[in-house]
Amino acid sequence: MSGALVPRAQSAHGSIDRIEVENFKSYKGAHTIGPFKKFTSVIGPNGSGKSNLMDAISFVLGVRSSQLRGTTFKDLIYTVDLADASESRRTARVTLAYVPEGEGEILFTRVIEASGATRFEVNNVRMTAEEYNERLKSYGILVKARNFLVYQGDIEAVAAKSPKELTTLIEQISGSDEYTERYAESERAKQRAED
Ligand code: ATP
Ligand code: MG
Repeated sequence: MSGALVPRAQSAHGSIDRIEVENFKSYKGAHTIGPFKKFTSVIGPNGSGKSNLMDAISFVLGVRSSQLRGTTFKDLIYTVDLADASESRRTARVTLAYVPEGEGEILFTRVIEASGATRFEVNNVRMTAEEYNERLKSYGILVKARNFLVYQGDIEAVAAKSPKELTTLIEQISGSDEYTERYAESERAKQRAED
C-alpha cells in the first residue's frame, strides 16, 4: 500500500474527550458524558443505559440504523412523556468531542430530525454523509469495518470464524477490501496479457 493511502491516524492515538447527548434513547434532555480517561469503565444495573451510550457512539459515527438496536432512527429518540412534545423535543442529537493526537478538538454531530432523517455536522458545519465519513476515515476510524467498537459477542464471533472468514475480517479492518475490485480487474488484465 502506498503511503498516501494509509489513514494518517493509523499510528497515532486519538481519543474521545466527551459525548454530548440530547433526547437520545434513555437520555432525557441534554447531558454531557465524560470527560473520558485513557481507560473508562461504564458500570450500572441492567437496563440503566450502558449499551445506550455505546449506541450513541455508534450513531454519531454514522453506523446505519439496522446495525443499532433500535430498528429506525425515530426509535432512538427519547420517548417517555413526549406525548405533548414540541417539535424540538421530537429530535435527538449526539455530539462526539474527538481529540486527534497532537491536534485540537473536533466535534462530530449527528442529528435525528422530526421527520426521522438524520443530518451530519463537523464543528457545527453541515456535511453530507460522504464528507462526514471521509473526515472520520482521515482519523483512521473506518465506520464500515467498525474497527473502533467491540460489541458484546464480537470476541466469540471472531474466535468462531474459519480461516477464510478471518482473512475477510482482516481485509475489512485494514481497509484492503476496498481494493478487491481493482485487484480482480488487474488479475483479469494479467490473464489477458498472458493469453
Ligand atoms: P444491560 O446490563 O441489561 O445490558 P444496559 O445498561 O446496557 O443494560 P440499555 O440497554 O443501555 O441498558 O438501556 C435500556 C433502557 O433504555 C431501558 O430501560 C429502555 O426502556 C431505555 N430506552 C431505550 N430506548 C429508549 C427511548 N427511545 N426512550 C426512552 N428510553 C429508552
Ligand atoms: Mg447492555
